Amino acid sequence: MEQVLNYINGEMVPAVGGAWLNDHAPATGQVHAVIADSDERDVQRAVEAAQAALPGWQALGTEGRSALMMRVADLMQRDLEALARAESVDNGKPIALARRMDIPRAIANFRFFAGAVLHWDSEAHLMDDVALNYTDRQPVGVAGCISPWNLPLYLFTWKIAPALAAGCTVVAKPSEVTPFTAAMLGRLCIEAGLPPGVLNIVNGLGPKVGAAITAHPGIPAVSFTGGTRTGAEIARVAAPMFKKLSLELGGKNPVVIFADCDFDEMLRTTVRSAFTNQGQICLCGSRILVERSLYARFRDAFVERVNALRVGDPADPATDLGAVVSEAHMNKVLGHIALAREEGGTVLCGGHRVELDGHLRNGWYIAPTVIEGLGPACRTNQEEIFGPVVTLQPFDTEAEALSMANGTTYGLASVLWTNDLKRAHRMARGLHSGIVWVNCWLVRDLRTPFGGMKQSGVGREGGHEALRFFTEAKNVCIRL
Ligand code: NAD
Repeated sequence: MEQVLNYINGEMVPAVGGAWLNDHAPATGQVHAVIADSDERDVQRAVEAAQAALPGWQALGTEGRSALMMRVADLMQRDLEALARAESVDNGKPIALARRMDIPRAIANFRFFAGAVLHWDSEAHLMDDVALNYTDRQPVGVAGCISPWNLPLYLFTWKIAPALAAGCTVVAKPSEVTPFTAAMLGRLCIEAGLPPGVLNIVNGLGPKVGAAITAHPGIPAVSFTGGTRTGAEIARVAAPMFKKLSLELGGKNPVVIFADCDFDEMLRTTVRSAFTNQGQICLCGSRILVERSLYARFRDAFVERVNALRVGDPADPATDLGAVVSEAHMNKVLGHIALAREEGGTVLCGGHRVELDGHLRNGWYIAPTVIEGLGPACRTNQEEIFGPVVTLQPFDTEAEALSMANGTTYGLASVLWTNDLKRAHRMARGLHSGIVWVNCWLVRDLRTPFGGMKQSGVGREGGHEALRFFTEAKNVCIRL
């Protein structure tokens, strides 16, 4: 059985306590690896290694760090196919998606921040002939990075790359549900010659390893992506310790479709924004709001397209939807579908588990599900489902669309479909979300601020925002 080891102080090692957790392949429901079941002792070792590595990492200078990160990216590029296969097995996502999106984006994260830091400058404020202020941005020290299971290597590298580029050393924890590719990254870091202790990866459960990272006094900044409830727990522990916190949390994203949109492009993209990665992307649009004059046409065309999606073996390049990530998550999503029925919703397609044949018969598959007939206030339209389930609701006016779109506790992303330029601007201003896509979805420029409002998070990642998070700004004022 393959072992997912920790990467601490430049070595692949088991947990100090010698315990293991099972790592399941969602496509088959079988255990495909065991994971180091670490605890605070492993985190302690990782923090000590990261602290010892800090002076050397900073002494390398921006160019030295950038060059090493580019080497790691080149090795990921070399192993793209192996990483994509491993991601697909570990997460259940279609191999085609891992090849096209997850791994290329993980590589891009390393390349982007290795480049960005070379072009990063700092501010100066001249007070006439009184004084000169300049901003000195110094790395915060050892950064804690905790990531979820939906885009495993993609989101893991989205945190550690800016931290490393900024001159921090890192103690990172991938999700215990999908830790496989992070361990592969650890081995590539050894091959690339990353100095021991610069990046440390500790595997294990959130309440043990994640909590130990959050509470460790030697980690002054924690960057977390995951569920809103976990984010609240991390904030509860970290805030009184005055740690820097970046929290990327859940969502219940609206897709607002006006009748004047380009219908074919909207339809194609709305199928993608609903069901890519089995709907398990924090940016997926799960509440589809449609102007009433277009509603019936949209509903019929959408359901026809969704019925044509292929749920199947993630290893088959023709598969549209693979397995959802775990048995517990499958049951949670099926529970939400049952709730939608109880609330009076009509399931237009899907609504059930899909049982495949042969070695896939115990896998965790759900048919893409479209529900209509529910109002904006019900639990189905308020709670994050994070699976292949969307609801349709009609609206009559722009004001009603805005109030429905904004009417949840979340505020991560919104998608807007209209060809009316003035309306696009008006709506974009009015939407309470950190990201608004107009006539597109998941178009990502890594320089832009990324994050959510309300219970979708605190702080922004991406570009200079991320480099700022992993540094402390110091103002130096010199009398002229
Ligand atoms: P989760 O909150 O259960 O776990 C995320 C990570 O936190 C895991 O590594 C987990 O082990 C760790 N963790 C759990 N308990 C912890 C604790 N007490 N202290 C510290 N760490 C702890 O989330 P998940 O189920 O892995 O991911 C799905 C959620 O992530 C969804 O809500 C989704 O919306 C959200 N998400 C948000 C974004 C974003 O950018 N806003 C991106 C992807 C996923």
